[in-house]
Amino acid sequence: MTAHERHPPHPVGGTIEVITGPMFSGKTEELLRRMRRATLAKQAVCLIKPARDDRHGTTDVVSHDLRRQPAIAVERSEDIERHLDSLDRIPDVVVVDEVQFFDLEVVDVCNRLADAGIRVIVAGLDLDYLGRPFGPLPLLLAHAEYVTKLHAICSRTGRPAHFSHRIEGGDDHVQIGGSESYEALSREPYNDVVVREHHRDEA
Ligand code: ADP
Ligand code: MG
Repeated sequence: MTAHERHPPHPVGGTIEVITGPMFSGKTEELLRRMRRATLAKQAVCLIKPARDDRHGTTDVVSHDLRRQPAIAVERSEDIERHLDSLDRIPDVVVVDEVQFFDLEVVDVCNRLADAGIRVIVAGLDLDYLGRPFGPLPLLLAHAEYVTKLHAICSRTGRPAHFSHRIEGGDDHVQIGGSESYEALSREPYNDVVVREHHRDEA
């Protein structure tokens, strides 16, 4: 018997909220803010992150302005439900940071949790460093009741930034890093650098 069956949560009220945008746009800050408010409301909250995000050498979720919160680090999306089933009490709120690093199955996991009455809050990059939709994010945006798109500050123009440009490193799809490896750019400078880098690679 799963924990869902032992402690059926509220029959109604489950939703999916997506917080998205480029790196440095404040996704983690916003996720931690919503989490704090749920805790103030005496709701049980569970914070999850993918184990591959090991930027801070800890299982804490840490924002770029160094707010931190202990989290459960899991390898795969199926481990999310496995972890929840191991708890004595099903949380009212399940929060997942860096959700773009999970496989597509995470979309079904979020839907199942929301169907079971849980408020699901996920945060993740909408685009990868090449400007392509990132993993499960497009599907999560479609399934979510609520979507918040945030912007960073463009490091070249000071305008709202929608793109995460990889400054250094290889061309692996996933490369964990912070401000040493990525900068937030608005559309024009992003297109300029991508064209320049493309020509350099061709030369
Ligand atoms: P995300 O999770 O979207 O990567 P965080 O919530 O971890 O973002 O960090 C947001 C914080 O990053 C901002 O409040 C600010 O202190 C810092 N920051 C660093 N570079 C930038 C930038 N280019 N634009 C906006 N905020 C930045
Ligand atoms: Mg973040």
